[in-house]
Amino acid sequence: MDDLLSALHSRRTLVQAGVMLPLAVGLTSCAKDPPAPEKAPAVADVVPVRGGTAGLVELIAVDPSIQLDLRYATTNNFTGRVLYKQARAFMVEPAAKAVVRAHKALAPQGLGLSIFDAYRPWAVTKQLWDATEPAKLDYVANPKRGSRHNRGCAIDLTLCRLSHGAQLPMPSGFDDFSERAHRNYMGGTAEETANRATLEKAMVDQGFIGMSNEWWHFDYKDWAQYPVLDIAFEEL
Ligand SMILES: [Zn+2]
Repeated sequence: MDDLLSALHSRRTLVQAGVMLPLAVGLTSCAKDPPAPEKAPAVADVVPVRGGTAGLVELIAVDPSIQLDLRYATTNNFTGRVLYKQARAFMVEPAAKAVVRAHKALAPQGLGLSIFDAYRPWAVTKQLWDATEPAKLDYVANPKRGSRHNRGCAIDLTLCRLSHGAQLPMPSGFDDFSERAHRNYMGGTAEETANRATLEKAMVDQGFIGMSNEWWHFDYKDWAQYPVLDIAFEEL
């Protein structure tokens, strides 16, 4: 998720640039998604792909040593609700393989990746939107547009110790809606800041782009080539 401040900042930046934005587009975040200034018409409603597997693969099928901490399969998330019936993490195959390469590249440092969220079915994005009171819709992705998580091309993750699995300290927790989540936030400890940089380097080296306002969120570089999907975990 990106936070409200960042969403507002993004919107302000686009408005300053003379870009007309429909309400709620450009104000989205991860559960919620990043503002998407790319080529697709901002007002076009996406038609999610249903059926098949759409090239999604399960991360632990590619590398079972990746740690899963899938918050939306628990109540330990910003909604306080269980959104996923199954605790599973999928991405499109090239993105999944790139995540595994990042995971392996960290191993010599005794580190690995711990996954908070990956592919998110469009229906879950819609469910979040429908359940959100109007005043708080800035916090959720507009299902009319879909999100990069819906495309199987975004991932939320952190670092963990390979030896005992503990997650490393970062400047904020997952889904912290404050400036502490921003990549350029320098108010954390030296260790937290260094950990954030280690995660970012590992992901960028494998073709991911970090979201500026969420240290845990990365988009696979080719995300625009993949459609929005609405395939339940149970079907995969
Ligand atoms: Zn995300």
